[in-house]
Amino acid sequence: MKFWKFPKKKYQQKELSVLTILFAAAFLALIVYLVVFLAFESESFINNPYNKRIDALSEKTIRGSIYANDGTVLAYSTNDEVTNEEHRIYPYANLYAHVVGFPVNGKMGVESVTNFELLHSHSNVGERLKHAFTGEKNIGDGIVTTLDPTVQDAAYQALGNYRGAIVVLEVSTGRILGMVSKPDFDPNYISETFSILAEDNESATLLNRATQGRYAPGSTFKLLTTLEYIHENPKDYEDYRYTCTGKFRSDGKEIHCFHNKAHGDEDLVDSFTNSCNTSFASLGLTLDTKELTQICNKALFNQKVPFDLPTEKSYFTLASDASDAEIMETVIGQGKTLATPLQMTLITAAVDRSGKAPRPYVIDRVVNDEGRFVKSLATEGTISVMSAEDASLLKAYMRDVVTDGTGRALNTDAYTAYGKTGTAEYNAAGDSHAWFIGFANQPGKEDIAIAVIMEGAGSGSSFAAPAAKTVFDSYYLK
Ligand SMILES: [Zn+2]
Repeated sequence: MKFWKFPKKKYQQKELSVLTILFAAAFLALIVYLVVFLAFESESFINNPYNKRIDALSEKTIRGSIYANDGTVLAYSTNDEVTNEEHRIYPYANLYAHVVGFPVNGKMGVESVTNFELLHSHSNVGERLKHAFTGEKNIGDGIVTTLDPTVQDAAYQALGNYRGAIVVLEVSTGRILGMVSKPDFDPNYISETFSILAEDNESATLLNRATQGRYAPGSTFKLLTTLEYIHENPKDYEDYRYTCTGKFRSDGKEIHCFHNKAHGDEDLVDSFTNSCNTSFASLGLTLDTKELTQICNKALFNQKVPFDLPTEKSYFTLASDASDAEIMETVIGQGKTLATPLQMTLITAAVDRSGKAPRPYVIDRVVNDEGRFVKSLATEGTISVMSAEDASLLKAYMRDVVTDGTGRALNTDAYTAYGKTGTAEYNAAGDSHAWFIGFANQPGKEDIAIAVIMEGAGSGSSFAAPAAKTVFDSYYLK
């Protein structure tokens, strides 16, 4: 026995134990990582539209179906018996194009955000076990959306050939019943048309205008200007008087009413129901721009609206040293302000719901291939947009718009409608986008809220309000 063996062995032992600890620690870290990954990260990893791993999943699973709220199939997959290639079918072609989306070319809509669920199967365990041996594909889970086929169809027809968007939601829950964006496309042919559509910036066909289109809100913005005026004049806002001659000039800037119409003597309610630009430009110059900005920020400007699908932020800015010209334009919804139809729907829903907008969502639940419930993806909640007092005041003003003002197209005995029109000029020639935002109720039915934007159509009163009526009729008269 050689004497140096002892220390060496001792040293080896020590080395071994250090290595063991290191290996054990690394192994533990790996396990922790895997658990964390499986529990929290894998979904977003697999749902990432750029992740190629999805191809591997789709080799084992036939992509699941997407349904409307009544079980109507909006998207499903079939296997070609000859080539064994999988085809994605959209039975309603263009009707649900943006909201349902597609699972190829970077993905879009519900197809994109529920990619993980559509490629995972909770089908019958026996079937799955059998498939594990035969190599047959499992059928992926289905996604039930909140979309109502009657409302969606009515919104699609109401928008006609105009570019623009319509959003319809259930006020008490935030469930999206209808979401249309035009121009649209047929998702059945998206692989063939994608590159042409993606490069056409002028039409921006692939943009979901309902959540990502940003427009000058026009006179729909007067809801917020009115609130700020009432806040600053709590005791005497009802004494407000203005005589409209159709034009108002300050700081070298002239504001005119639609078609230069002179509305004559008006109080605040008249100014609102007539959508009188000159009256609002005049009272706007008295307002505290900082306070108005705060009202806008609370009403979801300059912040991300929570939603299942991608959204753009609406935009509002008005510096304390803004010129009269800029203030006059801003308070009537022109200027730099930009709003998305989804955000405007939430503001109007908040008016109907004591100031609290519902958190909107379109993806309701996961079901297996036999329709059995797997899990809920509904994200109900509320967003505080204004006080209950403010909402109650605006509700009365929005009712007057329908009974006596620019929203008379919606005046019916069948249900009670509330609203505000908007006519947002977008060029020097005075061409304008038509807006309508509002809500309605009928005993025994849920209240629904709507935003309509029709690009270049003309006045909100003549185009967007009748479109909203078509949608309300489809819901309340069916
Ligand atoms: Zn006027």
